[in-house]
Amino acid sequence: MAVDRGVVLSGPGAVALEEIRVEPPGPGEVLVRIEATGVCHSDLHVIEEDGWGHAFPVLLGHEGAGTIEAVGAGVDRLASGDRVVLGWKTTCGQCPTCLRGEPRRCTRPPAAAGRLFRADGGELTPVLRTGTFATHTVVPVASAVKVSRELPVEQACLIGCAVATGVLSVLETARVWDGARVAVIGCGAVGLSVIQGALIAGAAEIRAIDLDERKIEQALQFGATHAGPGRVDFVFDVVGRRATFEQALGMIATGGTVTLIGLSPAHETAELELPALFGRRARILVSHGGDHLPQEDFPRLAQWALDGKLDLAGMVTRTAPLDAWQDALDTMQRGDVIRTVLTP
Ligand SMILES: [Zn+2]
Ligand SMILES: [Zn+2]
Repeated sequence: MAVDRGVVLSGPGAVALEEIRVEPPGPGEVLVRIEATGVCHSDLHVIEEDGWGHAFPVLLGHEGAGTIEAVGAGVDRLASGDRVVLGWKTTCGQCPTCLRGEPRRCTRPPAAAGRLFRADGGELTPVLRTGTFATHTVVPVASAVKVSRELPVEQACLIGCAVATGVLSVLETARVWDGARVAVIGCGAVGLSVIQGALIAGAAEIRAIDLDERKIEQALQFGATHAGPGRVDFVFDVVGRRATFEQALGMIATGGTVTLIGLSPAHETAELELPALFGRRARILVSHGGDHLPQEDFPRLAQWALDGKLDLAGMVTRTAPLDAWQDALDTMQRGDVIRTVLTP
């Protein structure tokens, strides 16, 4: 059997592709051969924020798709050979939010602990309980959602984070209505997914805002109707900085909603003018990955892609082998790509 490999953050700033050891799946878990994994800003955030709450060493990657190679005891919903998209925002069914009927806001999604190790024996913490910058990973069965093989795997993987986050921020978090005016600040992969979600919701006007002219062009190709700010009913801040959040607050119409999606650097603050907030009857929402539920939402997102309602192909700028992880992070940081998809 070939040696398993994964991209590991072993300590602050120390990232390398190295040999890893993957144990067989335990009860209620599945072993997945990763065939495609998108390179998402959150992985960079994990590197820059010293693990972002994950214990070192960390196995990077969380936007993956692949094929089930083994299932643990008690798993009957999935079988070897199934094509799955991995979801990081699963639900425990037992925490206070789950018990009061809000599984989309679960704060304790289950993890498959004790399955992934470095060659020296140190246990790896997979990013967001998935760890997809790797040849194999092990996840709880709830984290694996079967999708059709008709959807190319390098497109399917995007459903696992960027697409679910963007589209469901519109449909579930903010609940954009038919005919609404929408603006998106930050037009990378998540922003383009917000635009596609706004089209599905029936938005009448979609404004694209980004400092990078290339991203505005892309946004217009994906269905944005205007470039630049204007008065709107819904603003999605995909960037999460003081400047973008304050811009979002300044753009909403009376009764408007600002939805914060982007991960802010530690200690980032913004200033609100409370009388203006009150006067506008504004709502401020936080979208945690679009409040998606993998088992409910991935199948409909995959179907929309197959039906041509979601353009995933246009979001995959390029594919590259796992060895190209560093270049993939660099090109993302420069904004040169919508998505690089690594194919381990
Ligand atoms: Zn829960
Ligand atoms: Zn992500």
